[in-house]
Amino acid sequence: MALQQLTQTVPTPQLDYDCDIAIVGGGIVGLTLACALKDSGLRIALMEAKPQSVAAAKGQAYNVSLLSERIFQGIGVWDKILPQVIPYRHIRLSDADHSGIVQFYPTDLGMTGKMPVPQNALGYVAEHQVLLDSLQELLQDCPNVSWLCPAEVVKVEYQADGVELEIIQSKIQNPKSKIRTRLLVGADGAKSGIRESAGIPTRGWQYWQSCVVATIKPEKSHNNTAFERFWPSGPMGVLPLPDNRCRVVWTAPHEEAQALSELDEKEFIEKLEHRTGGLLGRLELEGSRFVFNVQLMQSDRYTLPRLALIGDAAHCCHPVGGQGINMGIRDAAALAEVLQSAHQLGEDIGNIQVLKRYERWRKQENLAILGFTDFLDRMFSNNWLPVVVIRRLGLWMLQNIPPLKTYALQFMTGLRGRPPQLASRC
Ligand SMILES: Cc1cc2nc3c(=O)[nH]c(=O)nc-3n(C[C@H](O)[C@H](O)[C@H](O)COP(=O)(O)OP(=O)(O)OC[C@H]3O[C@@H](n4cnc5c(N)ncnc54)[C@H](O)[C@@H]3O)c2cc1C
Repeated sequence: MALQQLTQTVPTPQLDYDCDIAIVGGGIVGLTLACALKDSGLRIALMEAKPQSVAAAKGQAYNVSLLSERIFQGIGVWDKILPQVIPYRHIRLSDADHSGIVQFYPTDLGMTGKMPVPQNALGYVAEHQVLLDSLQELLQDCPNVSWLCPAEVVKVEYQADGVELEIIQSKIQNPKSKIRTRLLVGADGAKSGIRESAGIPTRGWQYWQSCVVATIKPEKSHNNTAFERFWPSGPMGVLPLPDNRCRVVWTAPHEEAQALSELDEKEFIEKLEHRTGGLLGRLELEGSRFVFNVQLMQSDRYTLPRLALIGDAAHCCHPVGGQGINMGIRDAAALAEVLQSAHQLGEDIGNIQVLKRYERWRKQENLAILGFTDFLDRMFSNNWLPVVVIRRLGLWMLQNIPPLKTYALQFMTGLRGRPPQLASRC
């Protein structure tokens, strides 16, 4: 069924859909999976609980890694995204007021052997709505994907050969309907009801820090530079946006973060100007500030018979390094590849042996990122002298030992690890 036929305005009687894959959660990760499967021949139902306007208004901006760029290229959506984002060509890492600075440029990427290395970017920064709108637009031309929005999954029943879902579409006459699917994919975020209802435990912790996010307009040009400055209270990232705006992601202990979000605008800007060390000149605040909790979480399993978890439903990490959404995009591309080749071989896509291929691929790689972001946060949010000495030595080595620099950069841009085939198509 075409996209438009299932949106909120259709006065549909009680509907029963039968599909191969039901994706719960129409965030960026769920949408990426649906788009990655657009040519698979599999029938897909994608359900999002929030009305489209509410989901799009989430005022976030993300670091889009080079690997995510390639996945989007492979899907065929990058041409829609690129005019609305800007690349960053320089990363500047520093430790509070210490003079040692680590600087990365595209030439530091070296050759990976697996993929050609771009000469002009280290990554991109994209606003939530840009990614969401571009992916949704692409789906409009995918007759095998049914987009149900707003549609909330309220009940899940696993059976030997499929899964039955009960959904509520609040904006149609008979809001309750049932979907039967061979495979259920939980892309429903960190508080995943799909993960909880399947009884999958998670491991991890809440950090002692929260994050304040804001958009600023600096006096000086951001020069396509991404800044990450580590303070004992937590790291602060400043990412370049189009129209010479920047996204600030400021991590601090809970009370401090809350106080920062409540400061009047002038005081907040003064503190921010101090933290950015004058590099961007005078700053102006644009829009509201948001605070969010920071957690590390890894699901014990990503798969069960007839179920796979992707994105924040499977894992969450500290925002340092902007890895969260990129791990999810990579999950989506990996799962799409596994499912598509199983389907071509005539295998049952809900079979646990098939799904385990996805889990084996992604769980370890995600764990490495979770560990790395946790290590960075602990190492730098610390004023104990031996730790300070070690980390400054580490920064010196990173700046002065080229193979180390290349390795670290390839790791953070997603060019290490097993790339999905979608990323090699371009
Ligand atoms: C304030 C904030 C700022 C962040 N900033 C960054 C950043 O700068 N860089 C970065 O990489 N990461 C960032 N993150 C993390 C990033 O937002 C997540 O990693 C990313 O959004 C995960 O995408 P997702 O699609 O897996 O989940 P989500 O974006 O949470 O999407 C899940 C979707 O599922 C829907 N849903 C839930 N339950 C149901 C149901 N029962 N039925 C139907 N639909 C349902 C929800 O409505 C939601 O739209 C930030 C997170 C927050 C909270």
